[in-house]
Amino acid sequence: MMKPAYVRVIIDRGIRRELDYSVPDTLADRIAIGSRVRVPFRDKSALATVLATLDQSDAKGIRPIEALVGEAPTVSPSLLELAHWMSAYYCCPLEAVMRSLLPQVIRRAEISWKKQLVVQPLAKIDNGEIEKLRRRAPRQAELLEAIAKLEKPISAAQLLRESSLDNQTLRALAKRGLIELREEAIERDPHADEQFIASANLELNPEQVAALKKVTDALATPDRAKPILLHGVTGSGKTEIYLQAIRNALDRGRSAIVLVPEISLTPQTVEHFKSRFAEMHEVVAVLHSHLSQGERHDEWHKIHSGRARIVIGARSAVFAPLKDIGLIIVDEEHETTYKQEEAPRYHARDVAVVRAKLEKCAVVLGSATPSLESYHNATTGKYDLVALTQRVDERQMPVMRIVDLRQERRKAKIAPILSEKLSQAIANRLEKREQTILFLNRRGFSTSLLCSNCGQARNCPNCSVALTFHRHPSVAGRLSCHLCGHTAAVPKKCPECGKDALIYAGFGTEKVESTVSQLFPKATVRRMDADSMTRKDAYRETLRNFRTGKIDILVGTQMIAKGLDFPNVTLVGIINADLALHLPDFRAGERTFQLLTQVAGRAGRGETPGEVFVQTYTPFSPSIQFARHHDFAGYFQQELEFRERCDFPPFKHAMLITVRSEHEGRAKLSAETLVRRLRESLPTEFTLSDATPAPLEKLQGQFRFHILVRGQAIMRLSRLVRETLEKLPLPEDVIATVDVDPYQLL
Ligand code: ADP
Ligand code: ZN
Repeated sequence: MMKPAYVRVIIDRGIRRELDYSVPDTLADRIAIGSRVRVPFRDKSALATVLATLDQSDAKGIRPIEALVGEAPTVSPSLLELAHWMSAYYCCPLEAVMRSLLPQVIRRAEISWKKQLVVQPLAKIDNGEIEKLRRRAPRQAELLEAIAKLEKPISAAQLLRESSLDNQTLRALAKRGLIELREEAIERDPHADEQFIASANLELNPEQVAALKKVTDALATPDRAKPILLHGVTGSGKTEIYLQAIRNALDRGRSAIVLVPEISLTPQTVEHFKSRFAEMHEVVAVLHSHLSQGERHDEWHKIHSGRARIVIGARSAVFAPLKDIGLIIVDEEHETTYKQEEAPRYHARDVAVVRAKLEKCAVVLGSATPSLESYHNATTGKYDLVALTQRVDERQMPVMRIVDLRQERRKAKIAPILSEKLSQAIANRLEKREQTILFLNRRGFSTSLLCSNCGQARNCPNCSVALTFHRHPSVAGRLSCHLCGHTAAVPKKCPECGKDALIYAGFGTEKVESTVSQLFPKATVRRMDADSMTRKDAYRETLRNFRTGKIDILVGTQMIAKGLDFPNVTLVGIINADLALHLPDFRAGERTFQLLTQVAGRAGRGETPGEVFVQTYTPFSPSIQFARHHDFAGYFQQELEFRERCDFPPFKHAMLITVRSEHEGRAKLSAETLVRRLRESLPTEFTLSDATPAPLEKLQGQFRFHILVRGQAIMRLSRLVRETLEKLPLPEDVIATVDVDPYQLL
């Protein structure tokens, strides 16, 4: 290979341009595409990634690279290609993509390996030496004797622990020139203390066999394979297929990435994988948000160096620097947490499909409730579809019972939190010593504090939402905003009209917990939501107690909706199924169907069949009815018709532009100007909305306006929007963000 004279780099800063630098001779051998370098920039220096190597450059005033960061190139050519694709597709500067693609600890290269002191005898230690020493320094002699017996170098810490001698003694030996102390890099293993018991392959049922074959066929001929959508009902044994498919990939000398939603990345999940590959469990690397910077550094290098062959992680693990990838799995592919809500606003499932294409590997998307987009891709032949229609061991799907809250309200005047039917069912489970899960997608005690005289609710001063009342001591009986964290004391009288007429309205998980505890004083009730799980181990501990039967009733939010597998849970109560339905979002119906199906999937995972109670004010809404009958195909058909009528995904791509500012007038004016410019520059195949106030008009003190664009050719649309934005000077306090394939329409 020719030594590069110049390189083109992208700097880790908000500079949209790529810059050229010359390569000093001393670095020329080691610089390649994907290398990280330090370069002079203006009057400072900056970190950057090498995008290309050049023989010549036309740029003026070229300066040389200052230094190379790290040894090997950090970004592979295929990952760089992926970054370019993301930049074009998501209408986002390459530099922002690189920031997501490389973890901060790697980009900055400030943290390095943890070092440990290693002891090694310098020469053969003979007994005479030890005896000579024993008279003058008995402790040194004792330590030397221990060292003489060593077969290989040992860490100083371990040696001192085992011999109960001190560091001073060790140093003295080194000073005498009898031993050598040297520093060595070691790996921080977040799972070092855990033991993994090997688990064997399960014998697959015929549906699983067919599904696995589809995946192994794709592994054998990755050039020709399409992405595979694995649609398996809850409890159908998708994980077992993942595990055996990964084994197949390893046998072929390839590696694998498994993406799971952050919320499902539990110790239980990790254990599953580590146990199956227990004979070499260090080949499994885990990437999630709870790692320390040091652990992240080590896991990343373990992957980059090729020692790890399986990576399990949340969204950003789709960028794992793994080599020879044979298989990428996206579990729960419909999960909205795969979408990153800050730039680059990418969807990890879609990035996974593109990465698989670039790496020429197989990709499997699994779900009990596939997204409309993926299922549509499967029915139109873009993806291959495999279905698991049965739960393993022919376990029954749970029976879904709909409770009409309108009737309950008529009976009881006010709507109870628990209908009579649901509370009877709970009592019945308590008697039989079976467990119950109660689900409500809303935190807090009361969701608003209203004045019954003037009708005003207490709103957040920074956001256009009502403040939630929390009784829990961690927030000390205050009102708090779930969007910006603002808290306020509870006023005695209405600050608007001065009347002593404040009432608490609406309810959240805290209230459910306390109501259930009052109703069933003998039962052990626990709550699991973002408020009660602030302590690091709380999640694990609560799950353990639930598993071992110490908890009878678990109340919670999304946190308990996903992937938990507890055989003794025979009842699930959905306290209010309408919460998602009334959001101003074209995916509201889809989310409700998914949520009901997923939550219901927690019931009846053991011998006893499960029962689900769905409390709702809209018992006849299609997503509730289809979920009730476990009818995915029926639901898909009717939802698809609705999307087609309204020109929504999967028929058209959507792009949401948000223009925001602390100053309402300037935000509005800028949004309106932008719409005018877009009308000029976009061909008519794209439809453009007016600039409208966002449903959440004010967030964290900023006024927000939305522009919704729809069209088929998303790459083209992204380019045109970027060009329009670049030509439009916005006032300094106005920010415009672009979200391609948006999931947050508030
Ligand atoms: P899903 O992810 O599809 O909801 P899981 O993978 O959690 O389902 O599987 C449900 C349970 O069935 C797990 O406890 C799993 O170990 C078990 N299981 C999976 N496949 C088999 C099989 N072929 N034979 C027996 N048990 C199985
Ligand atoms: Zn707020």
